[in-house]
Amino acid sequence: MALRNIRTIGDSVLNKRAREVEDVDQHIEILIEDMLDTMYEAQGVGLAAPQIGILKRIVVIDVSPEGDDPIILINPEIIEQDGEQEGSEGCLSVPGKVGIVKRPNHVKVRAFDMDMNEFEIEGTELLARAFCHEIDHLDGHLYVEHLEGQLMDVDQLED
Ligand code: ZN
Repeated sequence: MALRNIRTIGDSVLNKRAREVEDVDQHIEILIEDMLDTMYEAQGVGLAAPQIGILKRIVVIDVSPEGDDPIILINPEIIEQDGEQEGSEGCLSVPGKVGIVKRPNHVKVRAFDMDMNEFEIEGTELLARAFCHEIDHLDGHLYVEHLEGQLMDVDQLED
């Protein structure tokens, strides 16, 4: 298990467009394992490679309650979206903060798996939100660009 350092807002790597992955070699396999370890350790539901300083189009997501159902997306693209949801969103790169963001309620993504086979995956609610949020990272965008209202401290929402 290897943890990588999570870059935070203000680090210019978070504002750059990540490059397509051409093939999954051992280097990429280790990167993906480290991304999963880093996401679970930080108790996040998603992590994009630029968040650990790697400008490659790779995303890991796990919205399952047990944290045992990882989704790995290589070169993901949103190919369909509909509906709307408004809810609070946070990001491991914006520690201690949350904000309200509107997202589509249903999203279909086309991506490649670890064998570079193309597949499609659909999500609603939290998973749809995670797809949008993480794929935004690959284009250098953070959720704070889409806020409805103010960025809030997590502490303000807790007892
Ligand atoms: Zn994020």
